[in-house]
Amino acid sequence: KRAPLVVANWKLNGGTDLICTSVASVLNKSFKAEVGIAPPYVYISDMVNFLRNSNILVGSQNVSKFASGAFTGETSAQMLKEVGCTFCLIGHSERRQMFLENDASCHTKIERALVNGLMPILCVGENDQQYELGLTQDILYRQLHQALPNLELQGKRLCIAYEPVWAIGTGKAASAEQVQEVHQYIYQELCAILGEEAAEGVQILYGGSVKKDNAAELLAMPNVDGLLVGGASLDPEHFAQICTIAN
Ligand code: 13P
Repeated sequence: KRAPLVVANWKLNGGTDLICTSVASVLNKSFKAEVGIAPPYVYISDMVNFLRNSNILVGSQNVSKFASGAFTGETSAQMLKEVGCTFCLIGHSERRQMFLENDASCHTKIERALVNGLMPILCVGENDQQYELGLTQDILYRQLHQALPNLELQGKRLCIAYEPVWAIGTGKAASAEQVQEVHQYIYQELCAILGEEAAEGVQILYGGSVKKDNAAELLAMPNVDGLLVGGASLDPEHFAQICTIAN
């Protein structure tokens, strides 16, 4: 198994103080895991500067589906690349629920990211109701098959983050066995969409109430290649501990 990828998603949180304390707690530690942080857009440049001599990745929480033009409030993949991002989250459930993102816009955003040299992390997952109705695989099937076809992945990296909406910010993480089963399904569908060789290279992360207490058992699962951490990443020491566990 390759080194896991552990990504912090700060969402609409943090500021200069959190940047300083976070940088202090991850800098000069040698994690075997690959570690990434996605602060709000306006802090990306500062973060990149502070982490310049480290191997910690900086990324964004979103990216525009447009390249340039009269799109007030948008930020393009090219701009993110220019200021030092190496990855971007795409289609997080909060964006799907509150900002009308859909599978088609995710597809366009993934293309934009890839063309501009950013690694897309496509977020997928079922909501509470869909989970109760046993629709997890149907939802994932749609999300993956609509967002991922016809991508030029040669020499590029792509990640999928499975984030069941019922586990996000609830303290009710999916069990390691549940996550393994879903990740196995995602891998199977990636093989169908991208071909086995390309699917092998896609890392599948889990997100949803990841804490230092459940990180080890999640990462022990054969198809769990990393973690996407929300709330716990706002506590720099807690986040650094999760990164250490992923060693
Ligand atoms: P929590 O870790 O706060 O549940 O958030 C998960 C998430 O949405 C990461 O993208």
